[in-house]
Amino acid sequence: MPPSAPLVDSFGRVHDNLRISVTDRCNIRCFYCMPETDVHFVERREILDFEEIERFVEIAVSLGINKLRVTGGEPLVRRDLPVLIRRLAAVRGIRDLALTTNGVLLPDLAEPLYEAGLRRLNVHLDTLDRERFRQITRRDDLDKVLAGLARAKEIGYRKIKINAVAVKNLVEPDIVPLARFARENGFEVRYIEFMPLDAQNLWDRSKVLLADAMIEMLSREIGPLHPVPDPDPRAPATEYEFADGGTVGFIASVSRPFCLNCNRVRLTADGKLRYCLFAIQEDDVKGLMRSGASDDEIRALIRRNIAGKWIGHEINSAKFVAPPRPMYSIGG
Ligand code: SAM
Ligand code: SF4
Repeated sequence: MPPSAPLVDSFGRVHDNLRISVTDRCNIRCFYCMPETDVHFVERREILDFEEIERFVEIAVSLGINKLRVTGGEPLVRRDLPVLIRRLAAVRGIRDLALTTNGVLLPDLAEPLYEAGLRRLNVHLDTLDRERFRQITRRDDLDKVLAGLARAKEIGYRKIKINAVAVKNLVEPDIVPLARFARENGFEVRYIEFMPLDAQNLWDRSKVLLADAMIEMLSREIGPLHPVPDPDPRAPATEYEFADGGTVGFIASVSRPFCLNCNRVRLTADGKLRYCLFAIQEDDVKGLMRSGASDDEIRALIRRNIAGKWIGHEINSAKFVAPPRPMYSIGG
């Protein structure tokens, strides 16, 4: 079906990018996302099944969505994920399909996912140091992530990105080695400023390693960094390149919020629609679908959600309120 009028919010932002969480479960326990113990996962019957996800995507495409990112929780723990990827890759109107993963299960799944039609991967890796990896993720899986990255590269995924969360007084020793590792392997690191989305209210501004500090470290240790010319104004990462090759990106949600260019909307694993990572309110897509709603009713819900989108997250203002769901339950 050709797209109807695009999804525009009251600030004129056009939405064409959907992030779908396929599970809130995870096989590791990063401290800035999940609690160490007593994690509350939603019951399996509350999770959207593949038919529901595919139907939602087809409806979203009819409203102009053309980019999809599959995330979680850890999407690779969702059973039969390659089956879903194959179905999503086949949806007409999707121009770009990507997946964000912690990489632990990539050694086994990189190939079936590629065969299913996936070509773009973001692999979450904060450190090459085994002890710090264990400290951050509360698991000892660094070797699996590195093997997963190597496997993905060997298979031929293009533009593999590494997501590194920038927490102050913790990952400073990792900033430069990660960039070097990525340059050697043809990956691109995207350093993500630590955001207030952890499950234990650990965040405060003093714990954020800011993009400017990382740019300074990389320029000093590796070589001068220059902003990439003609950047995509709607991309969350600000990209820089080294004079002798290789790029790095910074998702500086705290020090340089990019809300004014936001084109993203999110579907949680339990079928709630959110116009922002930090949204307080969400709309119940699953409830509507399971009550027998028509495609038009679901379209109307999506339009209403986007129409009510706020201007931005206000992390830097006294008005900021952390969302009721932590990162793993929203879908990063
Ligand atoms: N499990 C997958 C992973 O770790 O990549 C996908 C879901 S995870 C929630 C998505 C991304 O969120 C991760 O790559 C990580 O970089 C980022 N993330 C998690 N918690 C964060 C936080 N409190 N602040 C900033 N980024 C965070
Ligand atoms: Fe799991 Fe990703 Fe959250 Fe880490 S950031 S606990 S890998 S969902």
